[in-house]
Amino acid sequence: MTFDLERIRAEFPILKREVNGHPLAYLDSAASAQRPLAVINAESYFYQHGYAAVHRGIHSLSAQATTDMENVRTQASRFLNAASPEEIIFVKGTTEGINLVANSWGGSQLQSGDNIIITEMEHHANIVPWQMVAQRTGAEIRVLPLNEQGELALEQLSGLIDSRTRLLAVTHVSNVLGTVNPVKAIVAQAKAAGVITLVDGAQAVMHHKVDVQDIDCDFYVFSGHKIYGPTGIGVLYARKALQEIMPPWEGGGSMIDQVMLPTGTTWNSTPWRFEAGTPNTGGIIGLGAALNWISELGLDVINERETSLMRYALDKLASVPDLIIYGPAQRSGVVAFNLGKHHAFDVGSFLDQYGIAIRTGHHCAMPLMRHYAVPAMCRASFALYNSEEEADRLAAGLTRIHRLLGG
Ligand code: PMP
Repeated sequence: MTFDLERIRAEFPILKREVNGHPLAYLDSAASAQRPLAVINAESYFYQHGYAAVHRGIHSLSAQATTDMENVRTQASRFLNAASPEEIIFVKGTTEGINLVANSWGGSQLQSGDNIIITEMEHHANIVPWQMVAQRTGAEIRVLPLNEQGELALEQLSGLIDSRTRLLAVTHVSNVLGTVNPVKAIVAQAKAAGVITLVDGAQAVMHHKVDVQDIDCDFYVFSGHKIYGPTGIGVLYARKALQEIMPPWEGGGSMIDQVMLPTGTTWNSTPWRFEAGTPNTGGIIGLGAALNWISELGLDVINERETSLMRYALDKLASVPDLIIYGPAQRSGVVAFNLGKHHAFDVGSFLDQYGIAIRTGHHCAMPLMRHYAVPAMCRASFALYNSEEEADRLAAGLTRIHRLLGG
């Protein structure tokens, strides 16, 4: 399939909006992407015609809703090329998926003296849950640093791994720098030392095809709302054999087999053991529609288009005076920058006046901000619906701000 930008943009009604008297240039999809009508309509149709509580129902609507939900599990497993749908756990998002693994796997497997490796470029969601479980269990956190190009200093990894290393957690794509980490090689190195691996795919799955069997990681996690789907839904891929040794982390309905008093309750089989309570069924249906939509478009086509747009945007931004761009030359989805000595909030507020929506702040990556010795950065993200014209407007807006405020 070829890429028809106008046709794609037409599927996102919000992109027709004006903001502050200008057409909206939405360059904040790495924080949360907009949804196409296919997703909005699927969710709406479900609520109008198909909604019922899942799992326990004997009536037709409930049975159909359960089937619909389980079909999305199958769809998600195919999307990631998992070995089976039972390797897919529905979660609220990346944050919850990582917390599930930290609490369930980490809480049951880690002991005092063990260590966990994370990296300096992680989102807080892939730092704090590990720190919390490390504090509880007495495990140690080790950090793989960044090099000057904004890439992981991979030559230091072997020095961090020892016989007490139990888990390595790494982002597939940095949400700030756009660095695409060689996760397959990292996982191979970890596995050779018997280390369990988790890959945070929140910034990866919408840009290129992900194959968890090829990467060979034990856990892979992403959020629906960054892949043009709903908020409040995400996917945790967890290798089936590992799920079997993991205790539940939340108790309640659906995750049990028998409930006994005063004790003796037994658990449902995996992955349902990890899905306590009534799920976000509408969100799951919307996620299914998003995965369908993305797959129909084709991730290869999307990747080619986004790579070309990113090259164009970087080229344009190179002409903005005093613009400091962070991160490697090869990047996916995002460009983080600062304009001279100006605070990112000021730059972001000016751009908003021109109808250009970007992200400013620490991007939930305070250690990364410290690495670059800045309190904040601006981040423009480029999704499949963004245009060259929007990149032009960003560069022109920044040049204008520079003229107004100086360097
Ligand atoms: N990891 C990365 C790399 C992210 O970009 C984000 C979202 N900014 C998260 C984790 C957290 O995702 P969520 O807020 O959807 O749980």
